[in-house]
Amino acid sequence: MMRRPFIAGNWKMNKTVAEAVELAESLCEALGDVTEMDIAVCTPATDLYAVSQALEGSNIGVGAQNMYWEDKGAFTGETSPVMVKELAEYVIIGHSERREYFGETDETVNLKIKSALAHGLKPIVCIGESLEQNKAGETVSFVKSQIEGAFAGLSEEDARRLVLAYEPIWAIGTGLTATPEQANDIIREAIRDVLKELYNEETAEAIRIQYGGSAKPGNIADLIVMPEIDGALVGGASLKADAFSEMIKNAVAALK
Ligand code: PEP
Repeated sequence: MMRRPFIAGNWKMNKTVAEAVELAESLCEALGDVTEMDIAVCTPATDLYAVSQALEGSNIGVGAQNMYWEDKGAFTGETSPVMVKELAEYVIIGHSERREYFGETDETVNLKIKSALAHGLKPIVCIGESLEQNKAGETVSFVKSQIEGAFAGLSEEDARRLVLAYEPIWAIGTGLTATPEQANDIIREAIRDVLKELYNEETAEAIRIQYGGSAKPGNIADLIVMPEIDGALVGGASLKADAFSEMIKNAVAALK
């Protein structure tokens, strides 16, 4: 099963509109001829309009970092899937920072996934264990429970439209990276296995799974060549045009 590689940047709460447009334009210039993989940048909601304009017609997709599940109404401060869909193709759902600081649960993640899919958005759904869970040997059981929660009630067809990002929380923004072998094993044992139980082998093999956690130009090659790792969700290293472009180019070279 050939899964098309996919590297997405997560800008988190960074970049004013002017900064965002500058970065988007630089990426467009540096990466315009890349055909070997899907590329996207997930921007703050305030940057989506300008970045979608700057990247229109390019090979770089745009994503939001979060959304609410209702279409509209009295939900002050939230962004609806209808609004996101006008400006973006992807939406990150259930990032560990949202789970930790903003009360996301497996239930809200599931509601958001269903809503995003119903609106034709492509969710990038984040899962991953904490350092304590990792040390206690609970990684596989915890990640399995997150998957079961995220996919609850999703048809096989919907499931295949998701992208998963396996992000061990202890590796996010810390400079610590799971070894490529560690990440590959967890993806196989905790993610593809449970997808096989929930659906079937074909669906488990069709869903793209990114690695996330201090991915950078220097380690992307070793990560992306692993059979279960289909790309990366990139925080820090996606904030500078040079680093992000170098990363994509290193990944393309590694896959040749
Ligand atoms: C992320 O935000 O999803 C992430 C993986 O961050 P970083 O690359 O900075 O660890």
